[in-house]
Formats: sequence, C-alpha cells, structure tokens
Amino acid sequence: MIIVLRPDATQDQISHIIEKVKKLGLKPHLSKGVERTIIGVIGPEDILRVTPLEVFPGVEKVMPVLAPYKLVSREFKREDSIIDLGGDVKIGGREIIIMAGPCAIENFDVLFRAAQEIKKAGARVLRGGAFKPRTSPYTFQGLGEEGLKYLKQIGEELGLVTVTEVMDPRDVELVSRYADVLQIGCRNMQNFNLLREIGMTQKPVLLKRGMSSTIKEWLMSAEYILAGGNFNVILCERGIRTFEDFTRNTLDISSVPVIEQLSHLPVIVDPSHAAGKWGLVPALSKAALAAGADGLIIEVHPNPEEALSDGIQSLVPQKFYDLMQDLRSLAKALGREL
Ligand code: PEP
Ligand code: MN
Repeated sequence: MIIVLRPDATQDQISHIIEKVKKLGLKPHLSKGVERTIIGVIGPEDILRVTPLEVFPGVEKVMPVLAPYKLVSREFKREDSIIDLGGDVKIGGREIIIMAGPCAIENFDVLFRAAQEIKKAGARVLRGGAFKPRTSPYTFQGLGEEGLKYLKQIGEELGLVTVTEVMDPRDVELVSRYADVLQIGCRNMQNFNLLREIGMTQKPVLLKRGMSSTIKEWLMSAEYILAGGNFNVILCERGIRTFEDFTRNTLDISSVPVIEQLSHLPVIVDPSHAAGKWGLVPALSKAALAAGADGLIIEVHPNPEEALSDGIQSLVPQKFYDLMQDLRSLAKALGREL
C-alpha cells in the first residue's frame, strides 16, 4: 500500500502517520521526492483496509499496490534513483557508467594491467571476480580473499570504484570490507538468504537477472534487498536462456525500457555474458545504451587467450578502447554523458 501525502503535509503530520502505521504492526518507508512525499507500507494490506488512513491530516490518498513489488516500483518513487557508488561515481543520472575488467581476478599483474587499460579508456568501475560461480567444480574457482585484496589495492591506486561477486551470505561482511559494490550473480538472484543479508548493509548492489527469471521475479528479488533497508540497488540484464544457442544467452533488450517503466532503480546491461562472444559485444553495448541503459558491465582481459575464465567473450584493451569511443558519440546523441 502506498500513502500519498498532500504537498503541504507537515513534519508532525508525517510523523503521526508513521507512528500509526508502526502501531498497526506494519513497516513504513518514507520517500521524499521533489514534488511529492510518499510512504510505502509493507505488510498485510487488509489491516489498512479497516483503518482508514485517508482521514489522517496530511494524507491525500491511499493506494493499494497491485504489483507484488512495492518499494522498487515507480508508484512508490516517481523520480529515478541515483546511486552513489563511491568517489564521485553516481549511477542512474545523466552519466552513463561503464564497468569493465576481467571475469576473474587471476593474479595481481593481470588485474593491474586490465585496470590501467579500462581506466585509460574511460571506465569508472573495475570488475573482477574473487569468488567465481563456475559450472564445473574442476575449473578455476577464484582467489577468494587474496583476490579481494588485489582488487581493493588496485582500485585505490587508480581511483576506480570496484565491483565483485559475493556468493555466500557468510561472505557478505568479508567482501564488503574490500569492495565498493557487491555483485549478486545470476545464479544467486533467488538466494533469498543472501538477498536478506545484503539488505541489512548499505552497500551498493549490482543485482543480475537470473538466467531463467522473469522481470517480475527479478524485481521481487530487488524488493528483498530494499525491504531490508538497502535502497542502493542497480539491476543488471545479462541475457536469459532461450531456445537460441548461437549466443550464450539471449539479451532481453526490452527488459531495459520495461524496468524503466516499472521501477525507479537504475538498470545496466552485461553484453559479455549475454553474447558469450567478444565480437558481438560492441553491437549489444550500443543497443543497450539506445534502449536506455544507465551503464554497462563489460569483460576486458589483456590477454584473453590465457584467461582462466570467459576469455571467449572478453575484449582486448584496444577493442574496448574503440568501443568506448563509439559509445561516447552515441551517449551524446542520446542526450547523456560518458
Ligand atoms: C560474471 O559477472 O562473471 C558472472 C559470473 O556473471 P553472471 O552471474 O551474469 O553469469
Ligand atoms: Mn564472466
């Protein structure tokens, strides 16, 4: 349920309504917008049906929410959410944010070289996995905490924000100590314990869409994090499973404008895991920006031939550099900055 307040509602009136909602055993979330202040209410809506909140001073209307997600919805918050990733990097506004780096942190040198290249090309965020969700238990699983140390050191040295995956609720505290942004991989989009744990932090979160998840399920996963109190969620479309097997996944490009309609959260695209082939990454990247994405996360490796994971879909630095040039012109044409 969403309580829309009158434009002239006073602080006392707002506090009174919040108190009342809490007394009813429900959880209020206040959202102060430029034009309107809104209170999202979590809990069984039936309670509010018998307690007419419309009569409270300061309330303009009370709207039941039909969508199962509330806090992530545009109804709850009309303006786009702009999320602070650290430094001066903010996502969800006019600036398009490019995240790039190797699939996995393999050693200090490879990560450092990749970081230097992506920085030179204009990326703002360094990616690299220390805990890797590999399909086979016999392939490289990541360096764990050692990798996180390299990521933090290199990010600080080069002035790049860092993003890395956390797979296990028990590792949230550890990964939070080293990384600026926590990535939830597609295989863990419905790991509800992980979502709850991350909801208790204030860390920015990159929530990837599950490979067989609907947009509604994806938004429900985001809702878990917001319901826990963490509103710093960025959604990431990374391709879904379809009958098409030429590409690793099928990039659901329409999810970008759909998310923009349904939610105030920023949405970015991962063309690398969608395509599974580096040659397709530039076209998908441009399509993503044209569709309205707030950013991209792209795999870049200084020497893909030797990569320990996802070399096939990783751009060499020169190709990434060329792509960034094209994206810059495109961003300008779209009235955005890069
Ligand atoms: C990754 O970013 O390296 C990754 C494993 O992505 P996804 O969870 O989308 O497969
Ligand atoms: Mn990868």
